[in-house]
Amino acid sequence: MKCTELNCEVKPKFHFTRIESRGIVSEGYMCEEHMRYYFRKYRSMKSIEENKLTAPIGTVCADFDLMIWDYSLDPKDTPCILYMREVGGTRYLCTRMDAWAWSTLTAQFYQRTEPRPVSHEGWADSIRILGGQLQDVIVDKLDEADNWFHAVLRIIQNSQMKTVNVRASDGYVLSLVFGKQVYIDEKLMVNLLIDLDIDGANSD
Ligand SMILES: [Zn+2]
Repeated sequence: MKCTELNCEVKPKFHFTRIESRGIVSEGYMCEEHMRYYFRKYRSMKSIEENKLTAPIGTVCADFDLMIWDYSLDPKDTPCILYMREVGGTRYLCTRMDAWAWSTLTAQFYQRTEPRPVSHEGWADSIRILGGQLQDVIVDKLDEADNWFHAVLRIIQNSQMKTVNVRASDGYVLSLVFGKQVYIDEKLMVNLLIDLDIDGANSD
């Protein structure tokens, strides 16, 4: 692998995936210097277009923006960071996740079909077979002791709302499987990044 910047001979440290409208628009490898440059440049771009959905009180509507894999970390040390960006705004939530969550999310973006049943698809089928429909996903809290983000699946069944607590990364994947919106508690959102916030990311 090589840094995607022309004529750069430095060994890449990161893999990046840029996402728009829930599709991958670019991906590649970068050395640390170019990754930081790209990130600052990309951050100054306009926000994701506003949609018409009304966010539940105390939350903001957010969508997939950028994924960065730090190759200098051991795969068991949650090397991937997902940036969820506020729709119609500039705040974001960055979540560190493990390699398994990263590959599951990436498979969803590519709409890859797997040779065997996949956990999240089986989970989604279970919800449907029991007469449920996912309404949305709310990332609602950070467990400060463990630095894990929690989410709630809001499921409509027999005209009633049921909630299921999950890891945020599972909630993200299921929002893609069902094509539903993600909302994030306002208190978890932080302002526009000016640089890569790798050390400050909490886990899923
Ligand atoms: Zn480079």
